[in-house]
Amino acid sequence: MEVLRTRRLGHSFLRVTFGGESLADFRSGGHDQSLSLFLPPPHREHTALPSTQEDTWFGAWRAMPDEERPVMRSYTVREQRRTPAGTVEVDIDFVLHGDSSPASQWAGRAVTGRRIQAIGPAVERNKSVRFQPPADTDAYFLYADETALPAAAAILERLPAGAEVRAWFEVPHADDRLEPATRADAEITWVVRGPGAGRERTDRVLDALRAAEPPAARAPYVWLAGEAGTVRAVRRHFVQERSVDRRAVRFTGYWRLGASEEELLAEAYAGRAPSEEPGAEL
Ligand SMILES: Cc1cc2nc3c(=O)[nH]c(=O)nc-3n(C[C@H](O)[C@H](O)[C@H](O)COP(=O)(O)OP(=O)(O)OC[C@H]3O[C@@H](n4cnc5c(N)ncnc54)[C@H](O)[C@@H]3O)c2cc1C
Repeated sequence: MEVLRTRRLGHSFLRVTFGGESLADFRSGGHDQSLSLFLPPPHREHTALPSTQEDTWFGAWRAMPDEERPVMRSYTVREQRRTPAGTVEVDIDFVLHGDSSPASQWAGRAVTGRRIQAIGPAVERNKSVRFQPPADTDAYFLYADETALPAAAAILERLPAGAEVRAWFEVPHADDRLEPATRADAEITWVVRGPGAGRERTDRVLDALRAAEPPAARAPYVWLAGEAGTVRAVRRHFVQERSVDRRAVRFTGYWRLGASEEELLAEAYAGRAPSEEPGAEL
């Protein structure tokens, strides 16, 4: 994929729009559908993923020498479009959280013409779409931090008029409150993160949830994504304090405070915390 342009969306968000001939077969159905980006390893300009079959790329990627192996990161397909000229464009909204992490650093320096590799959807509903509400859902409850806001916004865009939604979105700065476009009947509570880390962050989100009076629902569906520790606490809130059936809660850790994606994958391989692989259900 080739960077076509970038646009700052808020204090923490940078939208990177990609194009390129290889996107001709890209098919995204929206919602929280994600893709894997492969970024150049340190001190390299370009990535070179071995060319393999669909079901063997992971082994081939892992077998590469450390200094050549591209850095793999998961991101949401914020939007896919076909241009009047017939080409395909894909938007990804990156959270810029510092210059020392590979993906955040890459995005912060992205300029038109830079290329990266990606493995993305070729069908509209692949297994990376975790938002799968049952047909009889009568209320949607969403929690997202900034990394999952692109996914939550894409979900809200697709919900029909009249759908009852309560959403809690946690962002680092007041101008990260990017109001999603939706036809749904959505009430959004923004939790702007103040000082403090770990438990304090989570408590601020729980306070906002506890202060809310969500509508009584017969068949609620809960979708949660963001920092793994907070997501786990928010899941407990819905299951234990609001008596939501645990099978109606879809929750995903998008990242974990203090651990890079490599460290989470290494834990998963070692069998120490298989459920904490990024993108896995906790
Ligand atoms: C399915 C899925 C979809 C995702 N979609 C998006 C998306 O659309 N946009 C997006 O920005 N992210 C998204 N993420 C999260 C993103 O993959 C992680 O934030 C990832 O760790 C970023 O890689 P990095 O190289 O910048 O940091 P890493 O090298 O992985 O981490 C380095 C350090 O930074 C910390 N860190 C990681 N992310 C953050 C953050 N956002 N804020 C503060 N500290 C952080 C880690 O805890 C670690 O200590 C998604 C994740 C998943 C699983």
